[in-house]
Amino acid sequence: MKMHKRAVLDEPLICERGSPGRVGYSLPADDLPDRDINRDLPVDLCRETLERFPEVSEAEVVRHFTRLSQWNFSAATTLYPLGSCTMKYNPVVNEVAARLLGLAQLHPLTPDDCAQGALALLADLEQCLAEISGMDAISLQPAAGAQGELTGMKLIRAYHVDHGCPRKKVLIPGSAHGTNPASAALCGYSVVEVPTGSAGMLEAETVVKFVDADVAALMVTNPNTLGLFEREIMQITEALHAQGALVYMDGANLNALMGVAKPGHMGADVIQFNLHKTFSTPHGGGGPGAGPVGVKKVLEPYLPNPRLVQQDGQYLWSDAFPQSIGKVRSFYGNFGVLVRAYAYILAMGGDGLTQATRMAVLNANYIRKRLEGTYDLASDAPCMHECVFSDASFKHSSVKTLDIAKRLLDYGFYAPTIYFPLVVSGALMIEPTETETKETLDEFVDALLAIAYEVRTSPEALKNAPMTTPVSRLDETRAARHPVLRWGKG
Ligand SMILES: *Cc1c(COP(=O)(O)O)cnc(C)c1O
Repeated sequence: MKMHKRAVLDEPLICERGSPGRVGYSLPADDLPDRDINRDLPVDLCRETLERFPEVSEAEVVRHFTRLSQWNFSAATTLYPLGSCTMKYNPVVNEVAARLLGLAQLHPLTPDDCAQGALALLADLEQCLAEISGMDAISLQPAAGAQGELTGMKLIRAYHVDHGCPRKKVLIPGSAHGTNPASAALCGYSVVEVPTGSAGMLEAETVVKFVDADVAALMVTNPNTLGLFEREIMQITEALHAQGALVYMDGANLNALMGVAKPGHMGADVIQFNLHKTFSTPHGGGGPGAGPVGVKKVLEPYLPNPRLVQQDGQYLWSDAFPQSIGKVRSFYGNFGVLVRAYAYILAMGGDGLTQATRMAVLNANYIRKRLEGTYDLASDAPCMHECVFSDASFKHSSVKTLDIAKRLLDYGFYAPTIYFPLVVSGALMIEPTETETKETLDEFVDALLAIAYEVRTSPEALKNAPMTTPVSRLDETRAARHPVLRWGKG
């Protein structure tokens, strides 16, 4: 197995470059009189000196940031198997669409009658998402998956309040993403953990025992975070509905369903879409995302205001929904992200989305099969779009899941999600997505097999991984506990 080789150019801080008086632009002299800056700005806001202010040329700036960008792993440079996050390729056509002047420069306060094209785009996107998910109505407002969850739980609470009582509890499986219990708790519910069965799936028989008149909803992820399809989902959602409770389905794993199965057919009353995952808009690094929610008719009256309606052939934003939970975000959501997702859906078409789902599931099962004799699978069942391994195969050695993840960086791959889901000891959660070719999948598997060999032959060396990256193993908590926020001062 050849170690991945790449040029890593040493790069100082930008303030360590340059020379006094050097500038990044050169404009012809103008004939305007000089003006004292203190006449325009309050004196106390103006600094006398700017210590170590970078004085650099334009080329130095471009090279500095281009080099720094090479220090990072991204879906644009390597397979990025971060389970649950669906780090698929972001097609460039999305970017072209989002940069169209009429869309990119549209002011959010533009009167509705001057923005009909943009509103038609949003209305069409709502319809596409309703069709893909089998839900009745959509709000594009929430800005992330977690905010979609919070919105969905607020809708559920508003529904129960309207029906006499908000109820007290929300049922959540132990394998759930941390944002699920957080969203339920923020809406005033106490969280009751439902155990998953030995096969890693929920069992209707068990769930039923937890359902009573105090239960407001079940929050369920399907496929779940072990990458397994919840086979008893129909009996489970029926049991909830029989007690007047609702079902929140976490739609973050829609990349295993779209074009093949619909949450709306499984008894979900509300779901969120993570457009930055399934629908290929860029994410990571805290950038903007979008977490629209889809609901069944029973929850539609409570959707966030304003909602997009059609009147006399014109689209307009309407606040005329008195039962609405109100706004959850400024204006109408992250419009640029919505445009990218819409471009993706149109470019793929229904058949393309189905094909993407199939490829994502096939790729995950290919990795699962090739690794199963070497790493310990968390479940024997075939997986959907991601496969999860435990640390059982190397638990006897000094090696930890973290060491394996760090070592992958030396082989030129980003690491899988680790230590999640919590129900699996030392979990390694791999989601290749449909993006990758068989050759890339093979290289990735070969790297993990080579690391398994290192676990047996030189376990202590793995403690120092990564060894070929610009910085080696970092102290995971020190940056958070003792942040250095000021240049030159410890
Ligand atoms: C990513 C994810 C979320 C949260 O979505 P964000 O867009 O990151 O806020 C919730 N549930 C699951 C299963 C996820 O993978």
